[in-house]
Amino acid sequence: MMLKTKVLVVGGGPAGSTAARILAENGIEVILLERNLSFQKPCGGGTSSSTFDELGISKTLIKKEVKTIMVVSPQGERLEIDLRGGSLNIIERGEFDRALRNSAVEKGVRLIEGDFCRILNDKKYTIEAHVGGADIEIISEYIIAADGVNSKVRTSLGIKPSRAFFTISERIKGVEADLCEFWFGSSHAPHFYSWVFPAEDGISAGTGSFEPEKIKPLFERFREKRGLIPEGQKRLYRMPLWKGDLYTHGKVVFAGDSAGQVMPLSYEGIYYAMKAGEFAAKAIIEEKVENYKKMWKERFQRRFTLMDRLKNYFLKDDVSAEKLVALHKRPEVQAASLLLWIRKDKGREGLKDYIRIFGKFLS
Ligand SMILES: Cc1cc2nc3c(=O)[nH]c(=O)nc-3n(C[C@H](O)[C@H](O)[C@H](O)COP(=O)(O)OP(=O)(O)OC[C@H]3O[C@@H](n4cnc5c(N)ncnc54)[C@H](O)[C@@H]3O)c2cc1C
Repeated sequence: MMLKTKVLVVGGGPAGSTAARILAENGIEVILLERNLSFQKPCGGGTSSSTFDELGISKTLIKKEVKTIMVVSPQGERLEIDLRGGSLNIIERGEFDRALRNSAVEKGVRLIEGDFCRILNDKKYTIEAHVGGADIEIISEYIIAADGVNSKVRTSLGIKPSRAFFTISERIKGVEADLCEFWFGSSHAPHFYSWVFPAEDGISAGTGSFEPEKIKPLFERFREKRGLIPEGQKRLYRMPLWKGDLYTHGKVVFAGDSAGQVMPLSYEGIYYAMKAGEFAAKAIIEEKVENYKKMWKERFQRRFTLMDRLKNYFLKDDVSAEKLVALHKRPEVQAASLLLWIRKDKGREGLKDYIRIFGKFLS
């Protein structure tokens, strides 16, 4: 079978579904190819109100609104931070992704459950996909590669996979949590953090590391430290490390985890994937794929660069992570962090505050 479309979106996660919906709203023919419509991505599911407000997503998808977060230093100092009217909203990824795909379909997107295999012809793009046990070909003028951290579109074009952390996470049912907890310390999360987030039916907890062979013992150490009861199945998944070196390749646009667009230090990716999907769609609507990189850089480059440098400083060892927590005792540091992370402030003021506070750590 051979199908033709103007835009093929590979991957029906937050980036792909957002791009597909916006394209269809603008009268553009789109096929959205998603490998597994029942996929539940391993994810803390914490995202700020901007995700809903800026991208027109229904707040009925929010399972819990977290108003206070807790950061814990390597030496065990605990600091609770009130989000001052803001919130970190917990969604269930299976349901959330399905809702985003459904709104794309309502706008006219053709959704196909199938696995992208490879690009057969990269002039007028012809790709091969497995759909229901058969191989099909899809011809499209544009491709949006929103197929996540292990992007096959990326490898199919001969582009190196992104550098990534390894994460391990699990769901523990029947345990209550009201806070999102971020635990720093090289004994359980070197260069990363361990987390406990509320979930619809309990909590989700996890940790990250560069070294896959150490991830299970690290998580065990965190569970002991935090006093978590062993429960069910643990899931391993890669999380990309932002480099900012991939936007487009011909008329292929990379959005979300496929382009490594996870905010350094906070390791937040849902909002940024959806914004990237929005920018990818807008650039294609304008028939100027080069505008995608411009839009992304204009909005996020300074923030990502700054956070990347702060991550390199504060997550390099326990002494620095201790300082990160200690600094956040100061109300003006909390205010600056909330403006940037929770409120997703678009202006330059929040960024300036951050540079004023943290500049001395960046030399
Ligand atoms: C353990 C963990 C916890 C996290 N916690 C948070 C958090 O609390 N808050 C936050 O903001 N971010 C979090 N993130 C990051 C966030 O999950 C990602 O940044 C976000 O999902 C990226 O969206 P995406 O659409 O780019 O990719 P994905 O969500 O990975 O979606 C990619 C989609 O493409 C599909 N696909 C893949 N290959 C193919 C193929 N060959 N053919 C067709 N379809 C394909 C997949 O099935 C998937 O549906 C977390 C990540 C991890 C690993």
